[in-house]
Amino acid sequence: MSQHGNLQDTGAEKTVPREKFVVEDPPPEPVYTRYRVEPGKPLKLSSVDPDESGRYERKKDARKELELQRRHLQDLQEKLYAENKHGLLIVLQAMDTGGKDGTIKHVFEGVNPQGCRVSSFKAPSAEERNHDFLWRYHKSAPAVGRIGIFNRSHYEDVLVVRVKNLVPEEVWRKRYELINNFERGLVLNGITILKFYLHISKGEQKKRLESRLDDPDKRWKFSSNDIKERALWGAYQEAFEDAIAACSTEWAPWYVVPANKKWYRNLVIARTIADTLEAIDPRFPLAEEGLEKVEIPD
Ligand code: AMP
Ligand code: MG
Repeated sequence: MSQHGNLQDTGAEKTVPREKFVVEDPPPEPVYTRYRVEPGKPLKLSSVDPDESGRYERKKDARKELELQRRHLQDLQEKLYAENKHGLLIVLQAMDTGGKDGTIKHVFEGVNPQGCRVSSFKAPSAEERNHDFLWRYHKSAPAVGRIGIFNRSHYEDVLVVRVKNLVPEEVWRKRYELINNFERGLVLNGITILKFYLHISKGEQKKRLESRLDDPDKRWKFSSNDIKERALWGAYQEAFEDAIAACSTEWAPWYVVPANKKWYRNLVIARTIADTLEAIDPRFPLAEEGLEKVEIPD
């Protein structure tokens, strides 16, 4: 691991931060791996309970723990930014109403916006379609020192694109490998990748769509297209299973997070991110020498 302790105290090391280019491979592992999909294993989403909430029964039981994890994440993000050596890419995918926006709002509350960027991906523009499918995602990938959040991602190109037959199978089939290589390239450049599938049930989606219709403040989120997409639930689940199984790698794991209970989803994601940052172990850079003698002139 490219730890700080490895820095030898020679004059040359001070001017050339060599360890900036040394990336741990595979990347540091978080301790909290409960919902991680092991590489190379097939996945059946129906075997994961979307209602699960661990040892918590009610929202208020988890409130303190969420606050703790959030604060931890905020502290580590500050160090990640200051150190400017590692970055983090968080990929959020879900069925419609799965809670991608809510996750961003609640997990990143209080994180310094300066070191963080959310990229939301809709259907590609004409220009984007004229490039290889990864082009627009690569442009939005985070630099070292930053956290990038993908609200939808390059996985749409093997999800909606597959389900809606937007390109022939021989085109999307090859994309799993292209995605794995793309992600590997980011990892070797110092970017740790975490991918979350927010797992809700079809019944829960019905409730959430109904509440969008009922609540005037939520109605703007409803699209009649959501009903057409819902009819394709089975095909989407299959596409998710294949994508997650093919692309949960040692260097960029997928996590399938029970998401019927929003508070539990937030807690699991906050904890997984904080724990991953903890494993990266970012540190504030050393201060200049002799600062104790500095006086600020009047
Ligand atoms: P929303 O997130 O509700 O604003 O919807 C965004 C829409 O963009 C969804 O219907 C996605 O399926 C669609 N979308 C995102 N990425 C792609 C893509 N690569 N190709 C086609 N459609 C996409
Ligand atoms: Mg939508």
